[in-house]
Amino acid sequence: MKANWSKRMRISFLSASFAVLTHLFLAHAVAAQTKQAVSFDLLVTNATIVTMDPDRHVIDSGIIATNGDTVTFIGTASDFQMSSMKGVTAKQTIDAKGKLIMPGLINGHTHIPMVLMRGLIDDVTLDDWLRKYIFPAEAKNVTEDFVRRGSRLGLAEMIRSGTTTFADMYYFEDAEAEEAKAAGLRGFLGETWIDFPAPDNKSNAEMAAYTEKFLKKWQGDPLIHAAVAPHSIYTCSEKTLRDAAALARKYHAPILIHLAEMRKELVDSLEKNGTTPVQYLERIEFLGPDVLAAHCIWTDYTDMKILADRQVGCVHNPSSNMMLASGVAPVVDQRAAGMRLGLGTDVPSGSNNDLDMMEEMDLAAKLQKAYRVDPRALGARGALEMATIEGARALHMEKEIGSLETGKKADFVILNLDVPNAVPMFDVYSQIVYALKASEVETVVVGGKPVMKAGKVLTVDEGQAIAKAVQYGKQVATSLKN
Ligand SMILES: [Zn+2]
Repeated sequence: MKANWSKRMRISFLSASFAVLTHLFLAHAVAAQTKQAVSFDLLVTNATIVTMDPDRHVIDSGIIATNGDTVTFIGTASDFQMSSMKGVTAKQTIDAKGKLIMPGLINGHTHIPMVLMRGLIDDVTLDDWLRKYIFPAEAKNVTEDFVRRGSRLGLAEMIRSGTTTFADMYYFEDAEAEEAKAAGLRGFLGETWIDFPAPDNKSNAEMAAYTEKFLKKWQGDPLIHAAVAPHSIYTCSEKTLRDAAALARKYHAPILIHLAEMRKELVDSLEKNGTTPVQYLERIEFLGPDVLAAHCIWTDYTDMKILADRQVGCVHNPSSNMMLASGVAPVVDQRAAGMRLGLGTDVPSGSNNDLDMMEEMDLAAKLQKAYRVDPRALGARGALEMATIEGARALHMEKEIGSLETGKKADFVILNLDVPNAVPMFDVYSQIVYALKASEVETVVVGGKPVMKAGKVLTVDEGQAIAKAVQYGKQVATSLKN
């Protein structure tokens, strides 16, 4: 992934430089009060902007302007001096007076097509949930059309709760990539590798062939990052793990995996491999900056140090960990150890059961308080960091997404504050994490393009997605009776 990254960083540096020049040009133009025309694709005015930039600036009466997929101006109205800029034009404007803007949320770990099995079986152990219900239901129902329809529903749900980037592991991942692209979201999408016949590929050779084609197809796409997703150390042999990593590295693609999720996984690894799941992956040369590992609950200090040193992206999933009683990730210690730690929803069926990152932030902050018996643990700002800039660091995309700054991608969310649970407001971080809900997400912009505006999802036919989901729900229920 390194070559691809350095290329991306170069592009990102160039686009940042261009944006800074644009900014300087603008400032100069404004100062000189020239009538030279400046045009933007999108101009959002009058908002309180929570930037999540390195100084954590919060801008009152702020303006965001975009060109193409990039933020070309962010600042106060007085910086912008719009009144004196007679030549400013914008193809699209949004007056965000009284509203709050934050960076688009990053869901670092999920399996969105599984929305079609939402609520199928809950309140059982992870092992029973997987082996008695989910794997059989998947074997009987998951087709390319299932993945496509489930993706549409999941994408609409994510947009409605402010997610602009997500990392996903499932089957028929190419169909999911096409749906994500059509919906306009950024996706790190991993084709799952598992050592038994999967719904899409019945052998490891088929799995490898499908994945290689998938990786080739999406090379260089601005939104979709095709990835390889060996499921876990307990469903993949050492050979499968090594082969998956080698294929991903051949194409500089990300590697997605579940890691140190259950106590059983740790106990079994100690017995079988003589070491922890993290140290086993280190031994087989699996870990690196191209790896995104979900959960990382059962990690000791040595594991944390390895994950930090190898720059592995890790993803905390508080709802899932609580729902399946997997344990509590030592998030505060992991952040202190320097791990790149994002936030995710995990499965929308049986281990959450939704894709709501607003709720996930709230739970992440509160779970650490209860776990450490310390109300100061993590905090609202820490939770928002994990859902934005730290999530971007976990994906090694912090130069492009995760905060609102000139030169970065124009991925942001406008929140409505004109509701009873949004007032009064003393602290923006506290308000976002503990008081605001997905229902306050009003407009969502990805790469400068609105995918939801004034409460309406623009890129997914929600009515059709909902009707099809109800139909598939009936099919899944019937299939398990046979
Ligand atoms: Zn998962």
